[in-house]
Amino acid sequence: MADYFSELGFRPLAEGEVPDHGAHLLRLLRDSGNFDLLQMFVELRGEGGSSAPAASKAAVQALPLVQPLENENCAVCLKNYDEESQCRMMPCKHKFHQECIFTWLKQTNSCPICRKELPTDDLDYEAIRKHKERESERNQQLESLHNSMFS
Ligand SMILES: [Zn+2]
Ligand SMILES: [Zn+2]
Repeated sequence: MADYFSELGFRPLAEGEVPDHGAHLLRLLRDSGNFDLLQMFVELRGEGGSSAPAASKAAVQALPLVQPLENENCAVCLKNYDEESQCRMMPCKHKFHQECIFTWLKQTNSCPICRKELPTDDLDYEAIRKHKERESERNQQLESLHNSMFS
């Protein structure tokens, strides 16, 4: 007989395995919309450094290959481009050697020059980012409402 727990996708822990309370907690915070706490946990996870996760592999692969100008140089390695350089362009139009930017985007999801972000595969990080976007939209709406009422 299939028991209740295995139907729900639970399985007994293997020997030496510990339950992943962290992941459950983060999902709970995400689902309940507790973004302040969620952000705190995501920052803690970043070990005091940057809390930004790697860019999504699909987003990185989708960066267009471009032909650099010869007098330009790559902001990651600071070397000039030559004819053989394979370059990729970020959505912000900044260009880098393919190798340089691919390595960079495994560490963080933002442009080395202007810090504009690429999407990530990190559900927690994306939830916080969407929340912030919604907040700033709402603030803008409030501001324009305020301006239309009081000016
Ligand atoms: Zn480079
Ligand atoms: Zn940029």
